[in-house]
Amino acid sequence: MPLYQEQQLRVYNTLSGEKEVFTPILDGKVGMYVCGPTVYNYVHLGNCRTFISFDLIYRYLKHLGYSVRYVRNITDVGHIVDDVDEGEDKIAKRARIEQIEPMEIVQKYTINFHNILKQFNNLPPSIEPTATGHIIDQIEIIQGIIDNGLAYEVNGSVYFDVEKYNQSNDYGILSGRKIEDMLSNTRELDGQSDKRNPLDFALWKNAEPQHIMRWPSPWGDGFPGWHLECTAMSTKYLGKHFDIHGGGMDLKFPHHECEIAQNQACTGNTPVNYWMHANMLTLNGKKMSKSTGNNILPDELFSGENNILSKAIAPSVARFFILQAHYRSILDFSDEAIMASEKGFQRLMEAIKALKDLKTSNNTSIDLAKWTQNCYDAMNDDFNSPILIAHLFEAVKMINLIKEGKETITKEDLEILTQTMHAFVFDVLGLENSEESANNNDKLEGVVNMLISMRNEARANKDFAMSDHIRDELARLGIQLKDGKEGTSFTF
Ligand code: AMP
Ligand code: ZN
Repeated sequence: MPLYQEQQLRVYNTLSGEKEVFTPILDGKVGMYVCGPTVYNYVHLGNCRTFISFDLIYRYLKHLGYSVRYVRNITDVGHIVDDVDEGEDKIAKRARIEQIEPMEIVQKYTINFHNILKQFNNLPPSIEPTATGHIIDQIEIIQGIIDNGLAYEVNGSVYFDVEKYNQSNDYGILSGRKIEDMLSNTRELDGQSDKRNPLDFALWKNAEPQHIMRWPSPWGDGFPGWHLECTAMSTKYLGKHFDIHGGGMDLKFPHHECEIAQNQACTGNTPVNYWMHANMLTLNGKKMSKSTGNNILPDELFSGENNILSKAIAPSVARFFILQAHYRSILDFSDEAIMASEKGFQRLMEAIKALKDLKTSNNTSIDLAKWTQNCYDAMNDDFNSPILIAHLFEAVKMINLIKEGKETITKEDLEILTQTMHAFVFDVLGLENSEESANNNDKLEGVVNMLISMRNEARANKDFAMSDHIRDELARLGIQLKDGKEGTSFTF
């Protein structure tokens, strides 16, 4: 029986403002879409917090036995500076500043994004589609919305007609905003805009002659609006109606509100059952952000080269720090807080190491079943990782008491305790024991050096088939040998 049939997961749904029992549309299968980064700059730790939050959710769903299709996009066109409809594309602007092609910007920062998330031990999504790879799908959706009378074309741009949509739908259903309040808080159109109403948003923008990110469309050369890509890609890979849609809290309005409106206007479907929003990482009490410069980059954290931290921090410690807060709470980053996390992380890792050498007896004095269920209850309660971590520290205490002979455990129960600790610490929280991986690196280096000396021996015996075989097989694994005057060296 899969675990999800034994455990009752409850998820906070932004749409209802309540924790709801999680029931996927298809039994045993979950479709999850998370808004990915706009790849115009290095990801900061705040962005990483959101992706780590959804990695935790992905990992726990998988742990429960669900088969999850996790789609997370890359925004490589259409996101305008300041998240508005008029102005320069963020990627085009960065390309101008760095004096390279927009697609070079996309490539450079996508590689950085993948590299950083790998260091945080995030699992890759099942599909990672790009906005530029789905222009045709976006054009089709725009056409559908126009056909349903909820969008209009002006001078080669197409806008969503919010007021008309709101006559038979609820624009504001997700964010709780009222259209009248939005209108009174919006400046009058200044005559420069083609929009009929300031609340309308762009589905397609006409490209100026100098704009190189352009595609042909029924309305002339242009590029898609930012909100549209997520509607196109989520629908394409998860269907018109799917389980979970996530992103940072700052995307709730307008981005996700507009997504709902687009789906509804095109297909008549409410697209998502559970809307989930991760809260912000702050620095000095203010949201970490690319544009204000109030941020810290993961590489600055790992190298210790920054003005905030007293020393370098391992990626797993930073991940642990992030997971010590619930994903819906604001978390403030500081040297003091992360140093405390490092101590906690080390205590946890030491206890896990100690499990191997615990003496067993013929009875168990601790309530292992209750402790295990407490861990599940924490995660079942809207992925409450800080409570889970508190229970893991209970286990640390138990392990230390067993070590001191004040509690006892049988061989079978020690196996269960070890398995449960490993499942929650490594599989669900996704932590890595950095000491252990350094240890494994030492072992790997030893093995490669041994193969190099076997290759030298083969060469000395003129067994070139064997020496080439060793070199080629290592190369296949990504280990390059380099012969020099000083002997053979290698790189991973
Ligand atoms: P962007 O590349 O700006 O579209 O952001 C990528 C993701 O990071 C989005 O889901 C944002 O909501 C999220 N994000 C941006 N700033 C922060 C922050 N300070 N804390 C947590 N998440 C953030
Ligand atoms: Zn999105």
